[in-house]
Amino acid sequence: MTNPLYDRLFAPLADRDRALLHLADGSAISGAAFLAMVHRAAHALVACGIRPGDRVAVQVAKTPAALAVYGAAVATGAIFLPLNTAYTAAEVEYFVGNATPGVLLADPKAATALAPVAERHGARLLTLDTQGQGSFADLAAAQPDHFAPVARGAEDLAAFLYTSGTTGRSKGAMLTQGNLLSNAETLAQAWRFTAADVQLHALPIFHTHGLFVGTNIALLTGGEMIFLPGFDLDAMLRLMPRATTMMGVPTFYTRLLDDPRFTRELAAHMRLFISGSAPLLAETHAAFEARTGHRILERYGMTETNMNTSNPYEGERRAGTVGPALPGIEVIVTDPATGTPLPQGEIGMVEVRGPNVFKGYWQMPEKTREELRDNGFFITGDLGRFDADGYLTIVGRQKDLIITGGYNVYPKEIELILDDQPGVLESAVVGVPHPDFGEAVLAVIVPKPGEAPDLAAIGAALAAQLARFKQPKALVLMDALPRNTMGKVQKNELRALHAARFRA
Ligand code: AMP
Repeated sequence: MTNPLYDRLFAPLADRDRALLHLADGSAISGAAFLAMVHRAAHALVACGIRPGDRVAVQVAKTPAALAVYGAAVATGAIFLPLNTAYTAAEVEYFVGNATPGVLLADPKAATALAPVAERHGARLLTLDTQGQGSFADLAAAQPDHFAPVARGAEDLAAFLYTSGTTGRSKGAMLTQGNLLSNAETLAQAWRFTAADVQLHALPIFHTHGLFVGTNIALLTGGEMIFLPGFDLDAMLRLMPRATTMMGVPTFYTRLLDDPRFTRELAAHMRLFISGSAPLLAETHAAFEARTGHRILERYGMTETNMNTSNPYEGERRAGTVGPALPGIEVIVTDPATGTPLPQGEIGMVEVRGPNVFKGYWQMPEKTREELRDNGFFITGDLGRFDADGYLTIVGRQKDLIITGGYNVYPKEIELILDDQPGVLESAVVGVPHPDFGEAVLAVIVPKPGEAPDLAAIGAALAAQLARFKQPKALVLMDALPRNTMGKVQKNELRALHAARFRA
C-alpha cells in the first residue's frame, strides 16, 4: 500500500538515529524518535474516531508534538487543518463550522472558550500546550509506537489551508498530496537542499511557508531543523552558527539587520537565505548583501498554490523581483478584465498552472469557479510584470490585501466591525509602510455628523474580536473618505496620505 506523502516525508525517518529537530534548549529529537511520535499521534487520532478524509483542526503552539500531528494526519489519511494561533474563539468557530473537523486540538488556555465551539459543531476537543503536553499528548503517550499508514493517492486531499476573502470570509484551500509533494520536490532541487542542511526554522507551522515550504523540504531531503517556537532574535543569533539555511519573511531580515550582533562573520558559513510571503524591499536586499555578502533568494507563492516562482540558486538573484517560474509551473500575466495573456513587460493579473495548484475551495464552488479557470490556471489576485529575462515582479495586490509581518489582513473584516461602533459613519482600512512589519494596519474613521467616536473604546472593541495582528496600529479620524466618481473609496489616496505615519 502506498501513501505518497507519507512514504517520501515520514517513512525514511524509521532508521534515522541522527537528529531531525534541534530545540532551543539544546536538546534534540532523532528521526526515529519523531516518527514514533507521529505513529502514537496517528493511533490517538484513530482512537478519536478520525477516518481517512476527516478533518483535524489544530490551533496550538509550534512544538515537535504539534508537527507530529501533521505527520499523523498524513499517516491516517486525514486532512490537516492548521489554524493561526492568534485567532480568537469567535474566529475559530467559523473554521470549525465550515470544515466540521472530527478533532479540534487547542491550547489548554483556550479550552474553556473553545469547548462550546467544539460541541456545537461535533468536534472532539483535546489539548496540546507550549510544551507539547495536554490531553492529546496523554492519549498519544498510551498508544503503540508503530502505525501502519493508510493507502492514499496523489489526488487525495492532505490539507485545508484557510485564506481570507475580500468579503472577510475565509476560504478553505484544498491541497492534495500531489500538490504538496510536487512542490517540495521542485523546491528542494531548485534550492539544492540535501541531508547535510540544517535549517534555522523560526516560521509558524500554521502557514504554507513554515509548514510546507520549510518542513516538507527538510523532511524530503533528510535534513535537520533548528525548530524554534517563534522568531526570537537572541535565539536566532545564538543558533545561526549551527545552521546552513534560513527561511524567513522580510521582517526577519529587517530585524536581523537592526541588530549589530548580526555580523558578516556570523552569517559567513551559511549556504542560503530565502525570503517570501511578502515583498522584500530592494533596500533590505542591498543592506543584507552589504552586511553579510549574501544575496537573499526571494520567491513567490501563496496558500492555494505553494510556490510558483523563485530567483535562481545559481545565477542572478534580482532584488525587487521574485524570479522566473519554477520548473514544471506555468506563470502568465493576463489582462485582468479579459484574461488574455499580455505582452512581456506589461502589468497584469498573475495566473498560475501546474501540479502545485490546489483543487478548489472547500464547499465554495462559486468562489472556485471565479478563481480557477477550466483550463487549470489559477487567478492569483496579484498584479505583476515579467522583465525581458523572465523574472516576475509583483507590483501590488488587486484586492488591497494588507500583509503585516508576513500575515494577511483583509481590510473588509475590520471595516465591518468599525462601522458598527457608536458614532462611526463609515471607515476604511489600509496598509501603510512600517519599518518592522512591512505594512501596518491603519484605520480611517469618519464620525457621524456632530458625534465624536471614542477611539479608546473602539480599540478595545477591536481587541475583543480580532487577532492581534489584525488590530489597527493607528485609528485616524477624517471628515470624509476620498471617493471616485463611481463612489468607490480611493484607498491609494488614503495610503499616500498616511504613508509617513510609521516611518522610522
Ligand atoms: P499567503 O496565501 O498567506 O501565502 O499569501 C499569499 C500572498 O502573499 C500572495 O498572493 C502575494 O500577494 C504575497 N506574496 C507572497 N510572496 C511574495 C513575494 N515574494 N513578494 C510579494 N508578494 C508576495
